[in-house]
Amino acid sequence: MITPRDIPSVDRLMTAMRAQIADAPHALLRDVARAEITALREEVQRGAAPPDADLLDLLVGRAAARLARDLTPSLLPVINASGVIIQTNLGRAPLSAGALEAMARVGAGYSNLEYDLEAGERGSRSVHLESLLRRLSGAEAALAVNNNAAAIYLALSALAVGREVIVSRGQAVEIGGGFRIPDVLRQSGAELREVGTTNRTYVGDYAAAISERTALLMRIHTSNFRLMGFVHETGLAEMAELGRARGVPVLDDLGSGTLLATSPYGLTAEPTVQESVAAGADLVTFSGDKLLGGPQAGLIVGRRDLVERLRRHPLARALRVDKTTIAGLEATLLSYLRGRAAEEIPIWRMIAAPLEGLRARAEAMAARLAMGGAAATVTGCASAVGGGSLPGEILPSAGVAISPGGDALSRRLRTGAPAVVGRLSEGQLIFDLRTVLPEQEAALEGAILAAL
Ligand SMILES: *Cc1c(COP(=O)(O)O)cnc(C)c1O
Repeated sequence: MITPRDIPSVDRLMTAMRAQIADAPHALLRDVARAEITALREEVQRGAAPPDADLLDLLVGRAAARLARDLTPSLLPVINASGVIIQTNLGRAPLSAGALEAMARVGAGYSNLEYDLEAGERGSRSVHLESLLRRLSGAEAALAVNNNAAAIYLALSALAVGREVIVSRGQAVEIGGGFRIPDVLRQSGAELREVGTTNRTYVGDYAAAISERTALLMRIHTSNFRLMGFVHETGLAEMAELGRARGVPVLDDLGSGTLLATSPYGLTAEPTVQESVAAGADLVTFSGDKLLGGPQAGLIVGRRDLVERLRRHPLARALRVDKTTIAGLEATLLSYLRGRAAEEIPIWRMIAAPLEGLRARAEAMAARLAMGGAAATVTGCASAVGGGSLPGEILPSAGVAISPGGDALSRRLRTGAPAVVGRLSEGQLIFDLRTVLPEQEAALEGAILAAL
C-alpha cells in the first residue's frame, strides 16, 4: 500500500530528472517536478496510484512527458481538409511562396523599414505599400494597419469622434467573433445613426438624416449573411453622390474585399476594391488575410486628405504593422501587379482549382490509402470560400472519404502530428482536397493511416 510518505521529494526527483532527461533550467525542472509530485499525491489520496510501481521511475517518466509538452509550441500547422478556404479559426489565408520568402528575408536582419536609403535619413514605413495599393485600387492614397477591425476603428476615431455616423439598419451587423459594428462605433466615440429598415434603405433615408452633426456615411458589406426577397440596399455610387453634394465623406467597409473578380470562378461577384474606389467611396477598408490572400492586416485606401488624417492620428502608431507584415503584403500585392495572383497566391489557386484536377488527386490518394490498407473512396463534396465572403456559395469539389468515420477518428486526426481537420458527414470522414496544398498530400496520407 503506497502512502504519501513514499513519494520522493522534489530534490530527489530533480536529481533523477537531471541524470535521465534534459539539462533544462533549474526553475523549469522544479516547476515540472512539483506539478508531477502534486498530481501523484492526489492520486495516492484517492487510492488511484499504481500499486507496485517504482515511484521515482514513474515520476521521472511523467516529468519527461510534461517537460516535452511544455517545450513544444502551442501554435501548430494544421492540414485543412475541411474545404473552407478562408477559415478564420485555422488562420485564414496560407501565404504565397513569395510572401514567405520576403518575410524571412526582411525578418532575418535589418531593413529600410523607416529609412530612406537614397537620402540617408529617416523615412516612412508607409511608402513600401502605398504606391502598390494606389496602383491596384485606383485610389489617391493608402495606409496599412493591424487588421480591418483596426482600420475601421482608426477611421472612426480620426473622423467621427463626438459626431454621427449614418448606417443603414440592415448593415449594423455582427461580423463574427463578437465584432459588432454598433459597438465599434460607440467604442471609438462616434454615434450610430441608424436609418431605413432591416430590409430596405433608400438614398432618401440617408439624405433626411444628414445634419451638421454628421461626420460620415458608412456602408458595411454584409459579408456573412444574405437578405433575400423584398430588399433594397442603397448603391455605393448613390451614397457617394449624396455625400459629395452635402460635404459628408463615405466610408466603405468591404470586409474581405478583393482585387480579383470572383465571377470568372463560378461565384457571384464579391465587391472589388477597385469598384468601391471608382464608385466614389472616400475611404475603403478591407482585410489583408481574406480574399487578398496575404498576412493579417487592415488596408485603407481613399482620398489623400482623409488618409493623411488617419496617418497622423495617435492611434495609427498603436495599430501599425510590423516589418514582416509589410514584406509579406508587398510580395502579395506584387503578385497582383504582375498579373500572377491566381497562380501564385494559395487561396486563389484553391478557388481556381478545376474539379477534374481535384478528382484526379482524390483518386490517386484513395488508391494509395487502399494500398496502405485503408477503406478510402473518392467522393464529391462542396468547398466554401469562407472568411465572411460569399455566404452560402459552394464550389463543387472532390475528396477522399473514410467510412465509417466518426468522432473518435476525427479527434485522433486533430490531435495527431501533423494535425488534420476534415469534415464529418453522414458517418463518413471527408477530406476535401481543394484546401489541401499538394505538398501536404503525403503528410495527410500518413496521418490518416496512422489514425486508422
Ligand atoms: C472580416 C470583416 C471585418 C473584420 O476584419 P478583420 O481583418 O478580421 O479585422 C470587418 N468588416 C467586415 C464586413 C468583415 O467581413
